[in-house]
Amino acid sequence: MEELQGALQAGGLTVSNFPDKGRSLVTTRDFYPGEVIISQEPYVCVPNNSRCDGCFTDTNLKKCSACQVVCYCGSVCQKLDWKLHRLECQALSKLDKERRKSVTPTIRLMVKLYLRRKLQNEKVISVTATDNYNLVEALVSHMLDIDEKQLVLYAQMANLVNLILQLPEISIKEIAENFSKFACNAHTICDSELRPLGTGLYPIISIINHSCLPNAVLVFEGRLAVVRAMQHIPKGDEVLISYVETAASSTTRQKALKEQYFFSCTCSRCIQVGQYEDIEESAILEGYRCRDNGCSGFLLRDSDDKGFVCQQCGLLRDKEEIRNIASDIKAMSDKVLKSNSSGNHQDSVFMYKNIEKLQKQLCHPFSISLMRTQEKLLEILMQLEDWKEALAYCRLTLPVYQRVYPGSHPLLGLQYYTCGKLEWLLGETDEAIKSLTKAVDILRITHGSNTPFMKELLMKLQEARAEASYKLSSRDE
Ligand SMILES: [Zn+2]
Ligand SMILES: [Zn+2]
Ligand SMILES: [Zn+2]
Ligand SMILES: [Zn+2]
Repeated sequence: MEELQGALQAGGLTVSNFPDKGRSLVTTRDFYPGEVIISQEPYVCVPNNSRCDGCFTDTNLKKCSACQVVCYCGSVCQKLDWKLHRLECQALSKLDKERRKSVTPTIRLMVKLYLRRKLQNEKVISVTATDNYNLVEALVSHMLDIDEKQLVLYAQMANLVNLILQLPEISIKEIAENFSKFACNAHTICDSELRPLGTGLYPIISIINHSCLPNAVLVFEGRLAVVRAMQHIPKGDEVLISYVETAASSTTRQKALKEQYFFSCTCSRCIQVGQYEDIEESAILEGYRCRDNGCSGFLLRDSDDKGFVCQQCGLLRDKEEIRNIASDIKAMSDKVLKSNSSGNHQDSVFMYKNIEKLQKQLCHPFSISLMRTQEKLLEILMQLEDWKEALAYCRLTLPVYQRVYPGSHPLLGLQYYTCGKLEWLLGETDEAIKSLTKAVDILRITHGSNTPFMKELLMKLQEARAEASYKLSSRDE
């Protein structure tokens, strides 16, 4: 712990212990928007299925010929991973074929955890203040909060890990406890556009606590976890990131935090629960629209329980009517989820548009579920290369994004980026410049300016500007 404090101190950070929330990462100097607060390589990580174990790419993959479980994109990644995979490969190769199929990424993460500990104990892999097993040991496990069913599952998984490792000094109980540590500490590793690639354990990043109104953001550069300040963080303030999707009502956010992380959030957004502003915001994000299409009021349940009353014009929406539309939406959503696997995009567009139509009748215009449907349509229309309609849907989502995300949230920046790319493709150069500029303003803070992702974005903006000035000069001639 002292060694860790020393290493953090040099970077302007310290670990404090708060009675109500345990370990917390606190600044010992000011940090400014876009500044890297801390970065860390994973103690261990695994890609999702069918990705390279080294760089997480999904192209040019070859299975390791010995174990037939792990994939690599080439010899460079394979060699870099060899110290650890040599042991893992031997262990996996001893399993029979059927068992090998049950080796999920989570099982592998655990196997790698113990093998890395072993290699560090044997000094094959070096140990530093920020890279050692003690940091993993210090993570919370919440074993006492886990229900019976989950414990049984962890025990089964631990049995399989034990069978693979065959290390007598490790108990099933210890492995099971580490699985519960993974559940509330492991991070989903995403690419620059926040699409999931794999899972990693970053014990120092795990010290950072949650807020629904965070002052910092976690993004990944390859496997490196990077936490940047989203706003000015004065010396002595706690660094806070968000563990869950913040585009949700207080009740939804708190439920998600309780279920996965076992705590009740007391951030500045959550302490307003029950106050009028919070009730209004929840009714807008997850509630119904007024019967009068021209009215943008939000609805609350009426005292006689007949239905929901608009708080602006007083019109009542009958609860039967609401229930009927909601059940139609549910039936259609189930259907589209089932048919999604068959993969006909045109059919999916048709079905999602029907869902959207019903949601427009049911939900408030700023509703999260309507926004999710429109996001889905945007995604499928992009795959269909229907740029014009995709742009229309991208634009529909933006007002909701602006409402639900803080001004420098990466998802807002990425949505402006998508919008700008589509406008550029469709020849709407002036609009593209506006959108790409907004994207740069946000993503420069969350993603830094020197990553390949940002360089590409900056180049697109430059191209758009060059074209705009070319258009302007040829018009003058
Ligand atoms: Zn690779
Ligand atoms: Zn292998
Ligand atoms: Zn909160
Ligand atoms: Zn109304």
